[in-house]
Amino acid sequence: MSGPTLLIVEDEEPARHALAEYLQRRGYEVYQAASAHEAMRQWDAHRADLVLLDLGLPDLDGVDVIRRIRREATTPIVILSARGDERDKIAGLEAGADDYLTKPFATDELNARIRAVLRRAGGPDADAKGCLRLGPIELDAVRREVHVSGELVSLTPREYELLKVMLSSQGRVLTKARLLRAVWGLAYADESAYLHVYVNRLRRKLSAAAPATSLEGLIETEPGIGYRVADHESVRQLPSRTVAPR
Ligand code: CA
Repeated sequence: MSGPTLLIVEDEEPARHALAEYLQRRGYEVYQAASAHEAMRQWDAHRADLVLLDLGLPDLDGVDVIRRIRREATTPIVILSARGDERDKIAGLEAGADDYLTKPFATDELNARIRAVLRRAGGPDADAKGCLRLGPIELDAVRREVHVSGELVSLTPREYELLKVMLSSQGRVLTKARLLRAVWGLAYADESAYLHVYVNRLRRKLSAAAPATSLEGLIETEPGIGYRVADHESVRQLPSRTVAPR
């Protein structure tokens, strides 16, 4: 029996082979592609559970591969990108990628991202009662109420919508433009200072509601890109670090 299937798209052969070998040892079934066209052929043939994608490919832009996959499937896609390529990362995330790793990356970081996006793919967004949870945060989408460690938090409609979009996107990176479009509308896509103010206000309100609870690491800032939202399962596995006893 083998584990989830991964498609690695990377034109640098030593890097691709090292990555493939490492992931095979971790129990994944691995397919490899060295170009965008090969990636699409492999995708058509195998429909991997997750795609690791280098954006700088010899034939087409990696973003084209993302668009192609997104036309057909919600399969998690993690971008592999060079340091400083913020524009490329944003373009990839806007095209539908879930997350990114900056090369060179540590293997434990790679593992954490793979697990988080695979969990995101397998789990429902909200439970049967319409609740979204992240660590001690609980958002009731039916009552439009938010609790932190059982304490009710008073949010404005915008703050509520912002938190709802974030909790619906666990284990992912959200670009600033995407959050602005989702919460404020198309005309606001460039108002990142605006978003920054709201996110900080939201963080303050959530922390103030339950001062004994650490919310650190639940919604992290990704400089120049946007925000990374932790996923509930990984937070739950580390209760002592993220949830203080009450
Ligand atoms: Ca490359």
